[in-house]
Amino acid sequence: MNAATFYPLFLQCNKVTIDSRNIELNDLFFAFSGETYNAALKAEESIQKGALAVIVEDEKFADSEKNIFFVPSTLQFLQDLAVHHRNQLKIPVIGLTGSNGKTTTKELIHAVLSQKFKVQYTSGNLNNHIGVPLTILSIKPEHEVAVIEMGANHQKEIEFLCTLAQPNIGYITNFGKAHLEGFGGFEGVIKGKSELYSYLKAKKQTILVNEKDALQAEKTADYETKITFGLEASDYYFEPYSSNNFVGFKYGENTLLSKLTGDYNFTNLCAAVALGFHFGVNLDHIKTAIENYTPTNMRSQIVEKNGKILVLDTYNANPSSMVESLKNFTKFNGTKTIIIGDMLELGEESTSEHSKILAFAESLDFDEIITVGPIFQSVNRTVNAYVNAAELGENVKKAPISSENILLKGSRGIALEKVLDFIV
Ligand code: ATP
Ligand code: MG
Repeated sequence: MNAATFYPLFLQCNKVTIDSRNIELNDLFFAFSGETYNAALKAEESIQKGALAVIVEDEKFADSEKNIFFVPSTLQFLQDLAVHHRNQLKIPVIGLTGSNGKTTTKELIHAVLSQKFKVQYTSGNLNNHIGVPLTILSIKPEHEVAVIEMGANHQKEIEFLCTLAQPNIGYITNFGKAHLEGFGGFEGVIKGKSELYSYLKAKKQTILVNEKDALQAEKTADYETKITFGLEASDYYFEPYSSNNFVGFKYGENTLLSKLTGDYNFTNLCAAVALGFHFGVNLDHIKTAIENYTPTNMRSQIVEKNGKILVLDTYNANPSSMVESLKNFTKFNGTKTIIIGDMLELGEESTSEHSKILAFAESLDFDEIITVGPIFQSVNRTVNAYVNAAELGENVKKAPISSENILLKGSRGIALEKVLDFIV
């Protein structure tokens, strides 16, 4: 069996899932085997639960008559099926990568384009070699545009994901200091992310370029098929505007204000709005989309609780996004405490990057600096260095934080949101 012969059955399936707990009637279940459980055991069970078909890499199903299909590699088959499906699609696919802001930009693009089209897009953060094919396979005949987030932490990963998603329009949100370990330093990040540009150029597809970003401008300077924003001379120009810690922009006579905080979100907004115009969404609809989009995902989320303003940016962190977050927070009115958590996956540069961030934080005028995590603890010699969120939580119970504004920012592994209940 190959992807092409299986395809007619796929088309009859409700949705594709790799989690046996999510199986509903007529689903296609890909049984991946993990270290702790053998998915093949779930194969029979999933058919009983109503799955229309199951893909499994256990040879004992080679002759199964119950729509349980044996393949040598479940992952390979998932990717092959996604490519086959992608090849049948006649809709524009927008591919996103970058060090920071992919998910936010993806959500914003979805919000804007949904004003006019039926849009399918990456769910949550499913942006890797499994998530990208799952997203492709979730595109149904009714969809008119797709937005696919592509994540990477090493070279050639974006190149590979492009062969699956085959984007018609691509955007690199930024080149930042993230996943330095896997990419081999910042130069490695630039090279790795630029694989999206190489794909688009080779296939003569469109690049969305933020011309204010010198690297993006330089890397696309010789290329004609692009949509540009960022400078007055670009295709689209938006003037930065903010009010009450929220980010927005002016466009001609119009002012649009989002519910996002952080200057970096200005860029994310511009990218989404430029694409909106490109796809013919009118300004009124764009305004509705931008003004109604509310982040709920611990990415630059502002929460007001018991008279305090909390900025929740605990979804992830790396040196680039940390600097942006800290700079943005200085603009808040009133007393300020920052709680910053370790930035993981920085490899050899880990200690020096943490020292730099701490020094940078100290150079800004915060009332209190608290660090969480062993790496910060190794460079922060004050009493305000905690090894984990639980330890900080215990302390805050005894000695509450008095500042009016509190920023929480750290890597996912530090799960800084766990201290929230103790703070307010
Ligand atoms: P991941 O690698 O986890 O998929 P991502 O690229 O999808 O991350 P988001 O989840 O959108 O990024 O944002 C994560 C954090 O990065 C935000 O909370 C914010 O602090 C920061 N950030 C967002 N956009 C930008 C940007 N354009 N430039 C720099 N930092 C940004
Ligand atoms: Mg993401």
